[in-house]
Amino acid sequence: MINAKPINKQSMYETVMNQFNKTADIIDLNPNIRKILGITNNEIIVHFPVKMDNGKVEVFTGYRVQHNNALGPYKGGLRYHDTVDIDAAKALAMWMTWKTSLAGLPYGGAKGGIKIDPRKFSDSELERITRRFTYALGENIGPEHDIPAPDVNTNAQTMAWIADTYMSTISSSERSHNQHVVTGKPVGAGGLEGRDRATGFGVYLSIKLLLETRNETLEGKTFIVQGYGNVGYWASHFITQEGGKLIAVQDAHATLFNKEGINTESLAQHCEPRKGSIKGFEGAREINPDEFFGLECDIVIPAALGNQITSENAYKIKASIVAEGANGPTDKEGEEILLENGITIIPDIFCNSGGVIGSYLEWLQNRNGELWQLEEVTAKIEKKITENFKKIHSEVQSRNTDWRTAAYILAISRIETAYKQRGIFP
Ligand code: GLU
Repeated sequence: MINAKPINKQSMYETVMNQFNKTADIIDLNPNIRKILGITNNEIIVHFPVKMDNGKVEVFTGYRVQHNNALGPYKGGLRYHDTVDIDAAKALAMWMTWKTSLAGLPYGGAKGGIKIDPRKFSDSELERITRRFTYALGENIGPEHDIPAPDVNTNAQTMAWIADTYMSTISSSERSHNQHVVTGKPVGAGGLEGRDRATGFGVYLSIKLLLETRNETLEGKTFIVQGYGNVGYWASHFITQEGGKLIAVQDAHATLFNKEGINTESLAQHCEPRKGSIKGFEGAREINPDEFFGLECDIVIPAALGNQITSENAYKIKASIVAEGANGPTDKEGEEILLENGITIIPDIFCNSGGVIGSYLEWLQNRNGELWQLEEVTAKIEKKITENFKKIHSEVQSRNTDWRTAAYILAISRIETAYKQRGIFP
């Protein structure tokens, strides 16, 4: 086992650039294409005023970074969090480019959000903030140009406000058909049955497929989850249904442990009225947050924010699988330690791709004027993830490399091919 190294916390941007440069070297990426992919296409920063419930006006800062659109319209979520800034948006936008490419979707990559803690605002304030942000973005988003979706602390309601504001304010005569300007909408407002569970379902499926390569199943496996939002909850729900046992959960407010197993549904119910926190749940005891990653278990699922597994804690991990439900949860040093210790990382750009695959189905459904049932949606997502898993697995085997490197090679090679075939304007 590797022991703790001096602490050197990287930014998410450094993490994604390291991953990109490593892959570009391995595949000897065309130097011109390397220049293009190493930088973002557009970085939009907007400041907009919103009237608060107390009558005062606050000015907010919103971001939308469009990294690359060689394969199709920009695609990616909007997050509302204190950690949102231009560097975070750039890193997250790049990850979206690799994710959509790897998933075989006709999309590029983008990400954005607002630097706020949504817990500090009322629902009507959040609605006005969201609508005014959408208005400020204007035609920088669009159903064939850049399509946002939910991410950390945003949800179907947020997307409904965005769709309504966009359709109410754009000048196009086609405005009533433009609800696919965002995905992840409520089912009654053009959303897809099953989009809410799609990311967590993908996380569960990626673990199940990996275990199959070892002739193992989820039955009896213990797992721990960081973050009990949409991704953490649904992943836990599906894994538990196949006999896995959730023994610990961590969020920004508490770390809970119960070696007999935590009831995934009761914990979700507990979180609901408290805007997401697991704190105070009675079906587990609270432990010191520093103990979390070192707990004895089979699978670790980071499903919260970036740069959580670092040189500070990676050496403590005893599980054999780290399944990245979050974007960028493992930094470079953390990754080196995990790999050195023989731990398999299911990389974010594959592990959490169920969400954007679900988004693609929603976008197609809106564009084609169709309505699909949950079974149909689940089957389509399962098929796509299974096919993608097989491609990455065969790359892992043929190159004798780790899963992230294999996934990056496939993702970046697809974009390289597109540029080679298309050429560069003018
Ligand atoms: N925010 C999700 C992600 O990071 C979903 C993006 C989307 O559906 O466009 O993959």
